[in-house]
Amino acid sequence: MIKLSLPHLAGKEQEYVNNVIESTWIVPLGPYVDEFEHRLDSFLGTGHAVALSAGTAAIHLGLTMAGVKAGDEVICQSMTFAASCNPIVYLGAKPVFIDSEKETWNLDPALLDEAIADRQRVTGKLPAAIVVVHLYGMPAKMDEILEIASRYGIPVVEDAAEALGSEYKGRKCATLGDFGVLSFNGNKIITTSGGGALVCGTEAEAARTRFLATQAREDRPYYYHETIGYNYRLSNVSAAIGCAQIEELQARVERRRRIHNLYKAGLGELSGVTVHDNPSSDIHSNFWLSTILIDKEQTGKTPDEVRISLLDKGIETRLLWRPMNMQPIYADCPYYSAPKDASSTEETNGVGEWLFDRGLCLPSGSSLDDKEIEMVINALKEVLETK
Ligand SMILES: *Cc1c(COP(=O)(O)O)cnc(C)c1O
Repeated sequence: MIKLSLPHLAGKEQEYVNNVIESTWIVPLGPYVDEFEHRLDSFLGTGHAVALSAGTAAIHLGLTMAGVKAGDEVICQSMTFAASCNPIVYLGAKPVFIDSEKETWNLDPALLDEAIADRQRVTGKLPAAIVVVHLYGMPAKMDEILEIASRYGIPVVEDAAEALGSEYKGRKCATLGDFGVLSFNGNKIITTSGGGALVCGTEAEAARTRFLATQAREDRPYYYHETIGYNYRLSNVSAAIGCAQIEELQARVERRRRIHNLYKAGLGELSGVTVHDNPSSDIHSNFWLSTILIDKEQTGKTPDEVRISLLDKGIETRLLWRPMNMQPIYADCPYYSAPKDASSTEETNGVGEWLFDRGLCLPSGSSLDDKEIEMVINALKEVLETK
């Protein structure tokens, strides 16, 4: 079976975990957590990372740090994984979804501008934060988004869970917004088994995030609380795995980019298939997952039919993230998408739905070798060329 994205061992995991067990630092926090944060900061080049128990926890604390409160509205990219917006609801705030543009598949800046003005008209106040996602590792149009956000004074939480190692104009994703979110879940670029980080701009914000993630215990000889806290710190055992993983991070990113290039070369000539690529030289994806669009007219196949045929051949693929405006739990939330032109016969409401209708994620794990990628390419050709 060729899987989508599996954990890829770096080599030193066992040794570092043994060190933890010998030291009996089997607790949240500890020397490996400090070291992991330090190595993240070095990799990112700027910012202060706080290691946490999950990427979802990082979004929750990022929104909290951004000042989101019950009753607020928070803007979120509609085409994403539910973890990007569930924490909005944990805080008692309300998501407002915005459609993607077709170049990066991320938050459409023009719609963002319109939506903020419209929310201000409808509710009398501005949204409290903006969650932008770098889907599949592809950086969003950050200059445009940050310009709009700063014009209105709205903080930006950058969901870079899939984008560790991606760059926008030479700067690392997770360091572009007010707060950056990383995930070290088993399927991501590197793993701690489960884990995440919130990247803050200042040491003071990082200290506040650590405080909130450690039950918001005030500095007194007894337990004393003035704030609601969480138990969100990363375990020292997980961080030991992370320290080993991060030693190979750059190589993992290079490998995913190479896999993407193999798909581009191998599928470039296949009619009805488009490999999603960096739209400009400003945008440098890590290609966490390589994705394609399949033209139904030209191939006579839907992405799900292709997925099932490939599964029969022992190849795991996955449909794109189903946009949040198409999820029952979020169906009642405001959703902003570009108006359709009158001549369009599309049944989809906006770019996210259009992409979901056509897209497929291909096996992209950094442990896959060139021969396995070749097998995926050949299988795809076979499936798409047989009517
Ligand atoms: C994986 C992921 C998350 C959540 O990270 P966890 O570590 O699994 O909690 C959030 N957003 C996106 C876009 C993700 O892909």
